[in-house]
Amino acid sequence: GAKASGSNGLRFHQQHAEGDLRSHMRLDHAMRQALASQRFRLHYQPQVDLATGEVVGAEALIRWRDPALGEVPPGRFIPVAEDTGFIIAIGDWVLEQAARQTAAWVAEGRALTVAVNVSALQFHQADFVERVASVLDQHALPPQLLELELTESILVRDADEALERLRALANLGVRLSIDDFGTGYSSLGRLKTCPIHRLKIDRSFIRGLPDDARDAALVRAIVQMGQALGLNVVAEGVETEPQRRFLHEAGCHDFQGFLFAPGMDAVSFSRRFPAAKADAPTVP
Ligand code: C2E
Ligand code: MG
Ligand code: MG
Ligand code: MG
Repeated sequence: GAKASGSNGLRFHQQHAEGDLRSHMRLDHAMRQALASQRFRLHYQPQVDLATGEVVGAEALIRWRDPALGEVPPGRFIPVAEDTGFIIAIGDWVLEQAARQTAAWVAEGRALTVAVNVSALQFHQADFVERVASVLDQHALPPQLLELELTESILVRDADEALERLRALANLGVRLSIDDFGTGYSSLGRLKTCPIHRLKIDRSFIRGLPDDARDAALVRAIVQMGQALGLNVVAEGVETEPQRRFLHEAGCHDFQGFLFAPGMDAVSFSRRFPAAKADAPTVP
């Protein structure tokens, strides 16, 4: 009857939740081991100027190949790390590693802006600005070569405090972008007051281009709004030539996607995309 199935349902629910919790804890434990055993790596995905075809930057993307679990995608472990708080340790590692690589590229004569994903929890740490400043300092990195990719949720939570922190980061000279733009709840009014340099149009709006009329209209609107606010606009997840052409015609500045290249390790990146002459820092 109803009662029996109700209690079965409850038992099922409990078992399911316990199963989730167990796999959660297992993953958390494995992540801690992975960090300690230096099993995380960063890949770099090129960002390309739509008008010139030049590589203008790279996004650092974390990779984890575990001996027991195999390749674990960030979409699987980052949310768990955000839940357990371990994202703070991962985030520090990513920032340090990306700064080190960016500095190594500078030493090779290549001034490439590297974008790092920052989780909300990481951003809201009391000493986040100091951490960024100290990483720049340690690697003697020109601040404009570091870009922080923030999510809209950062602008929404503790809005005043967040704004103050964004200003402090902008004052350091690092670049700030809004990742997955269009999927969150940030208001246009907030965007106006934030010292943001760039919008990254979420892949979900790019997928339907150029045929889906709604996606096309949304992407045009985002690009125009970005231009009106003086922001750089980059499209993520560009997979086809018609998508690229649409974005170029819409006035979008840069793109990132499998059409050009996926993320790859730093050595492969340097080999496949050698620095243009213009990238070299000018010698006085
Ligand atoms: P995201 O920051 O929006 O990164 C873009 C994701 O789209 C990456 O997935 C990238 O490999 C993928 N991508 C790029 N071009 C294409 C394309 O043309 N087609 C398709 N289908 N996908 C494309 P990835 O590396 O699996 O990362 C997923 C998400 O995990 C990231 O989304 C980001 O939110 C998070 N993440 C990755 N690395 C880090 C990190 O170091 N720290 C933090 N906090 N989050 C990270
Ligand atoms: Mg990103
Ligand atoms: Mg993104
Ligand atoms: Mg995205």
